Amino acid sequence: MKYSEFQKEMGSLDRACISGFLCRLCSEMHRIVIHIYGEQGQKHNLVEKINGYLPITISPTDPLPKTICGGCLKRVQQHYELLQRVARLREHNIELKESIQEIHQTMPNRPRRSTIALPEQINRRSSESSSSSSSSSSSSGSSGVEQEDSD
Ligand SMILES: [Zn+2]
Repeated sequence: MKYSEFQKEMGSLDRACISGFLCRLCSEMHRIVIHIYGEQGQKHNLVEKINGYLPITISPTDPLPKTICGGCLKRVQQHYELLQRVARLREHNIELKESIQEIHQTMPNRPRRSTIALPEQINRRSSESSSSSSSSSSSSGSSGVEQEDSD
């Protein structure tokens, strides 16, 4: 697009023409911009991509700039492509989620108490082993052994 065509579309923006055009998205001045409602903007479906996929709404009658810079154009397109990709893969992701849930269901996720020895059980085990060993080693007769015999 020629500079004179820009001037015609933008109206009287003498000051902007000197320093550049404001980008609607990054709010910075740029010498080279793409007019959202211009030929380039229509080619890239910028109105649809900005209004549909960005948290702003552009209308031809709002008082804000209708131009975006090259960097923002690239970002808008990348953002749009990413969202399209995500939308395409959504079905695949649902299947993936289901298979992950199946894996979680088949895997025992509950705490396995049987393997964890409680302090009570440890004490009992140690006392049992000590009593059995002590009964053989210390044959001098302990009161504990006598009690077990009487029971
Ligand atoms: Zn920009």
